[in-house]
Amino acid sequence: MQRVEILGTPVDLVDLEQTLDWIESRIAQPGPHCAQIITTNPEAVVRAQAEPALRQALRECELITADGVGIVWAVRLLTGHRLRDRVPGSEILPAAFERFGSRLRVYFLGAAPGVAWRAARNAQARWGIQVCGVQDGYFSDEGAVLEAIQQAQPDLLVVGMGERQDTFIHRNKARLAAKVAIGVGGMIDVLAG
Ligand code: UDP
Repeated sequence: MQRVEILGTPVDLVDLEQTLDWIESRIAQPGPHCAQIITTNPEAVVRAQAEPALRQALRECELITADGVGIVWAVRLLTGHRLRDRVPGSEILPAAFERFGSRLRVYFLGAAPGVAWRAARNAQARWGIQVCGVQDGYFSDEGAVLEAIQQAQPDLLVVGMGERQDTFIHRNKARLAAKVAIGVGGMIDVLAG
């Protein structure tokens, strides 16, 4: 996997299939670890200049994909490398659910109370995934949330908490007993319908 850098932010030169292959290999690895996926956009690259916690998350996540065409173009202009396509969370999530189906244990974290439940139910009905936990994104007791995730041990932790999501995953990586954690923005709302 080749990684380039634009304005201090790394970008992995992967397409959707390679991203799914990567997720599959991380899930297959035994033992406690949490690999973080960030799908980045120009706003995050700019925000990272002024936010050390986000900058660190972007630099230290295990996989970082181009969420939008802005990053695809920036990679081409600034590094000369060609990304075939963007790989946003809105494509990774349904494609992963489709590919792994009932083999995948998923924890949904984020969105307003009730929304993540609907998203989880819909995803379970449509793709047959296993839902191992659900939590809205407006909690006050972070320790309790981390504890619940630790108990559930998901293959995939889906975090839809807007600007907070990637630093939340990065800050808590050592305590998150998920194989893979991914920030998905408003995708939980989309899945909820
Ligand atoms: N969100 C959340 N907790 C927060 C802030 C946001 O759960 O503290 C959720 C929000 O309800 C929505 C999702 O994060 O479901 C995406 O939020 P937003 O539209 O701000 O982010 P974007 O999609 O633009 O990244």
